Amino acid sequence: MIESVKKRCTDLLSRASIAVGVSLCILLVLFLWTITRKSPNLYVREFTVFGTYARLTFYAQEQQAEKAADAIQERLQELNNRINIFDDQSELSQLNRTAHTTPFQCSEPLWTLLSVCRQAYERTNGAFDISVGPLLRLWGFHEKRDRYPAPQDVQQALAAVGLNEVVFTPAERSVRFTHPDSYLDFGGVAKGYGLDLAVRVARKHGIERGIIDLGGNVYCFPLPPPGKDVYTVAIRDPFHPNAFVGKVHLLDQCVATSGNYENKRTLNGRLVHHIIDPRTGYPVPHVASVTVITPQGVDSDIFATAVFVAGMPLAKDLCRETPRTGILRIVQSDKGRTAIETCNWPGSLATNCKR
Ligand code: ADP
Ligand code: MG
Repeated sequence: MIESVKKRCTDLLSRASIAVGVSLCILLVLFLWTITRKSPNLYVREFTVFGTYARLTFYAQEQQAEKAADAIQERLQELNNRINIFDDQSELSQLNRTAHTTPFQCSEPLWTLLSVCRQAYERTNGAFDISVGPLLRLWGFHEKRDRYPAPQDVQQALAAVGLNEVVFTPAERSVRFTHPDSYLDFGGVAKGYGLDLAVRVARKHGIERGIIDLGGNVYCFPLPPPGKDVYTVAIRDPFHPNAFVGKVHLLDQCVATSGNYENKRTLNGRLVHHIIDPRTGYPVPHVASVTVITPQGVDSDIFATAVFVAGMPLAKDLCRETPRTGILRIVQSDKGRTAIETCNWPGSLATNCKR
């Protein structure tokens, strides 16, 4: 009797230990699975495109990230080859060379980008104008020059500027210049447009977590980095390269900054920068930077350039018309006093910044 009770107890104990062992194994497998799912690998790819850097940061399985990065790099390179004004053979260079003598028939991708720029011109009342090419040339941003232009040179270049003077024929996808010196330049939109393209390709490859940065035009994916709730982006202080005026927390949003410090030249000892007012023909005075947060990369790029030129009245219209949009503009008076102007700005500002 005692023997059989002992045997049953031993049986029960060994079954219980098997059950505990199996449960532990299952828990261990579940734990490892959760860890590997929650902490996808960090993958970074860097390359140059549009004359600037591109940095892809993905939290994803390596193979998936690698495939996405290859596809993005290829698509951006394709776009760059089409619109690079420093390459004589690019489609845009051919258009710029010939559209005054014969209507230039565009490829579909070029036509799509041109249509975006035409809408931007209307939406910003001409503050964003890709026909600023002759002025960029005059101010030394296409070809090197040392002389500060005379007022009559500015007036002469201005005569060839104005997207409303360019003839677009949708049925033929053609462009015709009415002025021999007209010249289109996508410098104010290429990075933002490329950013949206890159995001679409990444998402098609299943990337949902990470950041794409195309020369300061940034997209933060909908899922946060592992262990965090959001992406935090710091906004550079235009007067102190290593300081920040504030930061923003982003998910599924883009941010872009246009700054007078990004690209500049000295002509006859006078400093000039690369954002030109198409109405006056001169680099925009007194503005140091404009930062725009908005869902689409192309909008953030265009709005930043346009608000740099046209100021807060335009910023307010754009914020009202475009959901989830915030704008921050930093200006500096002749006397060196700086001020910060904002519209729907969702981020924090450093305490020494005035609104
Ligand atoms: P960044 O290149 O520093 O990101 P932007 O996005 O503002 O800054 O782009 C500036 C570029 O846009 C210039 O280098 C030039 O190619 C182009 N550009 C300058 N002024 C204008 C304008 N008023 N409208 C459209 N494009 C412009
Ligand atoms: Mg821009």
